[in-house]
Amino acid sequence: MQHHKMWTAVIALLISVIISIVWAFLSLELQIAFNNSKAVNELNSKLNEIKTKTISISRMSDDSVYIEDAFTQFVLASRTIQEIAYISNKQYIYTDRSQKINIPIKENLKQYLEQYPNGFLIRTNTSLNDVVTISYVFPAGNGFFQLFLNKNYLSQWLGTYIVMGSLKSELLNQAEVRLISTKSEQLIHEEREYSPDGIFSIQSGYDWAIYFNFVIYRFSIVVVLMLFVASVFSFAYMLAYKYHLSFESDVLRGLKNNEIIPYYQAIVSNKTKQRVGAELLCRWYYRRQKIMDPSTFINKLENNGQIKEVTLHLLRQLAKDKPHLADGNDSFYVSVNVTIDMLTDEAYLDEIKTLISSNKSLQTGLVFELTERQAVSDKINQIVKSMASLRKYGIRWALDDFGTGYAGLSTLKTLNFDIIKIDKTFVESSVTDSVTHSILFKMVELAHDLQCTMVAEGVENEIQAKKVTDLGVEYTQGYLYAKPVAKDQFCRLYDK
Ligand code: C2E
Ligand code: CA
Ligand code: CA
Repeated sequence: MQHHKMWTAVIALLISVIISIVWAFLSLELQIAFNNSKAVNELNSKLNEIKTKTISISRMSDDSVYIEDAFTQFVLASRTIQEIAYISNKQYIYTDRSQKINIPIKENLKQYLEQYPNGFLIRTNTSLNDVVTISYVFPAGNGFFQLFLNKNYLSQWLGTYIVMGSLKSELLNQAEVRLISTKSEQLIHEEREYSPDGIFSIQSGYDWAIYFNFVIYRFSIVVVLMLFVASVFSFAYMLAYKYHLSFESDVLRGLKNNEIIPYYQAIVSNKTKQRVGAELLCRWYYRRQKIMDPSTFINKLENNGQIKEVTLHLLRQLAKDKPHLADGNDSFYVSVNVTIDMLTDEAYLDEIKTLISSNKSLQTGLVFELTERQAVSDKINQIVKSMASLRKYGIRWALDDFGTGYAGLSTLKTLNFDIIKIDKTFVESSVTDSVTHSILFKMVELAHDLQCTMVAEGVENEIQAKKVTDLGVEYTQGYLYAKPVAKDQFCRLYDK
């Protein structure tokens, strides 16, 4: 038991770890995708904006002084742009800082211009004060504009993504040169997103430290959830177990205190209106306070197996009651409800046989009822054997609730019943429903073909009584003649 608990805990812990790892991975994955596309979109629209503005300023006038002023204004007003230059024939022919400078451009810029004539980002120094910047170069007219962008500003901008998503990011141009990077450690997972025009890409990822933090954080949530679910389950289990236990011990207590008692309902001959027998029906005189009907507990007894103990208990009482019930009538019989489970339990059958052997009153006039509601098909051989072995002890067999279950013709023949009891629902509707009436007619015919005596159950009025009598049913059990009552009351009715 202790080992079992330990393993359950180890497995739960392992599952939690796996869930947290997967969860951390998925959420980081999502965050990377989200951040990358956000950063790419932002930078892309920023570049487009300054490009459009630059071109529109350049077209404002033919007067170069006027344009120079306008560019100076633009640069001063912008947080990102540090300088604007114009390149033609591989020479700077203009910057907003000094006019017509005619300096040749650097070698690597030349290469880029040849390779990426539609524009690019490149790491360069400003012409004037030699500060490291990221240049945005794009074609305009016969040449190219070069916008020197503040590297620190871009770095900072990219940096906001680290804080936001615990990620490390870098900005690359189309030559795969790293322009800005916030990375330091080795990353364990990276994703790349390209700008729509392909000019740059942003690559983000995370390192072990961030990943571990994510896992730990999620692990704590998963464990708390698991503990919660586990405690809900064990609480429910405990309640169910307690309930189960309490019913079981309640029954044991009831048996010990003789609270579980037999009631008897008379079975009457339709011809003579005399009693021919009785059915034993169980009642629970609960804590000697109220009489409980079997509908409230029989199912539970059948499910937990205690029905066996209860039936033995009832049979012991029947052994004492039976002579009084019969009142000298030698052919008087008492019907007792048994279950299929009893017939497949050899040890239990032995107990019943012992009980019969040691009680003369049980050796004649005892009928066992099997309900048609319980399926028999898979154990039919054993049932046939048990029924036959009990016949040697004088037991006769009745099929209860005929018409409500699934006993096929062949089963009926094989099990060889002595008595067939027609269910009360048939008796009830046979009066009003002509189809039921003809079914009932067939049932009686069938029963008689099988040489069974018929008992009609649930006869409550004279019309029903006449109906079943006319159909040829021999016996009746119903409220019209008698309700189930305790032994003393059953016997008192003789004195009337
Ligand atoms: P059942 O074996 O079909 O018993 C007949 C039921 O019909 C009894 O209900 C009886 O009181 C009721 N009944 C008899 N005549 C009439 C009538 O004219 N009208 C109506 N409406 N009902 C009538 P009860 O005593 O409540 O028993 C219910 C069921 O509980 C029984 O149905 C039987 O399946 C089960 N049961 C009772 N005692 C035992 C027992 O000792 N062992 C087992 N295994 N089951 C039992
Ligand atoms: Ca019955
Ligand atoms: Ca019945």
